Formats: sequence, C-alpha cells, structure tokens
Amino acid sequence: MRIDLHTHSWFSDGTDSPTRLVLNAQQAGLNVIALTDHDTLAGLDEARAAGRRVGVRVLGGVELSASHEGHELHLLGYGPRRDDPGLNTELERLRVGRAQRLPKMLAKLADLGMPLTLEEVRAAAKDSRTSLGRPHVADAMVIRGYVANRDEAFERYLDRDGPAFVPRPAVGLAEGIDLLHDAGAAAVIAHPGIRGASTVLTGTLLEQLRAEHGLDGIEVDYPLHDLHTRELYHQLGARLDLVRTGSSDYHGTGKRGHELGCATTRPPAFDELLRRIAAHGGVID
Ligand code: AMP
Ligand code: FE
Ligand code: FE
Ligand code: ZN
Repeated sequence: MRIDLHTHSWFSDGTDSPTRLVLNAQQAGLNVIALTDHDTLAGLDEARAAGRRVGVRVLGGVELSASHEGHELHLLGYGPRRDDPGLNTELERLRVGRAQRLPKMLAKLADLGMPLTLEEVRAAAKDSRTSLGRPHVADAMVIRGYVANRDEAFERYLDRDGPAFVPRPAVGLAEGIDLLHDAGAAAVIAHPGIRGASTVLTGTLLEQLRAEHGLDGIEVDYPLHDLHTRELYHQLGARLDLVRTGSSDYHGTGKRGHELGCATTRPPAFDELLRRIAAHGGVID
C-alpha cells in the first residue's frame, strides 16, 4: 500500500491536470493520493472521477495559507465537505488576496527593469487555474527570458527576502485548524521543518495547538526534511499523539525534487487520519 498525501494540480501551482496527476500517481505505483491544492477545492471532483476510473483512491484535501506571528505557514486539511460555507468563504478571501497582490508584485518587477503584464501571468497559469501565486509570476518571467527557471525567479526576486516579494492574506494557524474542523476536515501541519516554518513552530506551540485546538497531525517525512528533522518530528508527534504523515508535495514539473511517492504515509497513520476525518464529520470516500 503506497500513500502520498500532498500533491498539487494546475488548479493551483502544479502543472498536471487532476486527471493527469492521478494517471501519474498510478504509474508511480501509488494506491492512494490526496489532492491538496493551495486555497482551492476546485480540482477535487475531477481527481476523484479519474481515481475511480483507474483504481487510485483520491482523498480530498486543501493546503491552506496560514500564518503565525508574521510567518507564512501551510496547513493541510483532509476530507473537507466541499460545500461547507465557512471554508469556502475563507478560501475565496484567500484567492482574492492572491489576485490583489499580483499587480503589486508586477510593479516591483517593473521597477527592477522586468515589466510583465497581468495577462502574461494569467497566460502562464492557463485559464483553468484558480489559485494564482508566485510560481505563476515565476513562469511568466521564464517565458519573457528574465530568468532561466522557477528556482532562479524565487532565489533572486520572489523569496520572502527578495526585492519583488509581496505578502498575501493568510488565516491564523489556530483559526485555520478550527475552520477545517468545522468543515469536517482533519488538520495537519505541512512541512514543519522547512526554512521559515521551523523557527516559529516550536514544540510548545505544537503542544498548545494539539491541546487547545485539536490539531490532528504533522507532516514528518518530506523531501526537504533531513533524517535528523524527520526523527525529531516523529518523536514529537508520538509524544503529542499526532498523526505522522509522509508526502511528496508533488507539483508536476513545477518543483524539482518532489517526485510522486518520494515520501509516503504508513497505512496505520492513514487509517488513523481517516478515523479523525470521520470523527470531524468529513468526507472519506
Ligand atoms: P505563494 O503561495 O504565491 O506565496 O507561493 C508560494 C508557493 O511557491 C509555495 O507553495 C511553493 O509551492 C512555491 N515555491 C516556493 N519556492 C519555490 C521554488 N524555489 N521553486 C518553485 N516553487 C517554489
Ligand atoms: Fe505550491
Ligand atoms: Fe506548502
Ligand atoms: Zn504543497
């Protein structure tokens, strides 16, 4: 049983359609994937339908843009009810915030001598994508020849410390956990050990989120976590009774080093995640 619980389609910043993603998952020998696009549920129906056709189980998910003390963090929600008004209203707010920040980033790039139009960013993102972000600006920069690839765009201009960075709205971490629970979903902290996240996600904070908000899990096995980091979060997760997941964060060709199935979730952890979703009143079909 091979389970990968963190993937993106072209409804956010992945490059595969949901159908292509599921076919690629089958090719990679995966039995279960979760589709977790940034701030949108738009790809879930298509992914589920494709999964039923080819025999890959698709768990519905979302990767919420969250923040704590000014740091951007990502919160994975598994099994949300697709029609939950509270969650959908917040996701819409986050997507509007993403759209509103684009002109500001483009103004900064223009000041740096790299003009780009909104149309070029939208074209780079294709029509079907609903959750626009820095990766799409990066793609438009590549098409114009300003940089060679997405990585260079982030390293030189778009990273948090870069000259074209503009923050976007997010949901507070505790508030995001409550919001996901209200929609039936289990809440799992994504990639806690990556740069930026690890400074703010102390053991004390995780303990508090577990005790006061019922945080469900933590992403432990992740391509950018070294062995020491994985061991640390395995132990912390066990101590706090958190579901410990493993996932690739696959983005198609949009992010190197995140091949489907390069990190996976153990079946007992997946079963426990399903139990928690069921307890929250979410969707596990
Ligand atoms: P945004 O949500 O618009 O602020 O963009 C952040 C997203 O950009 C993250 O979720 C990653 O998927 C992606 N990202 C961050 N750094 C890189 C990078 N160096 N190369 C490609 N994608 C990246
Ligand atoms: Fe992404
Ligand atoms: Fe993420
Ligand atoms: Zn992700």
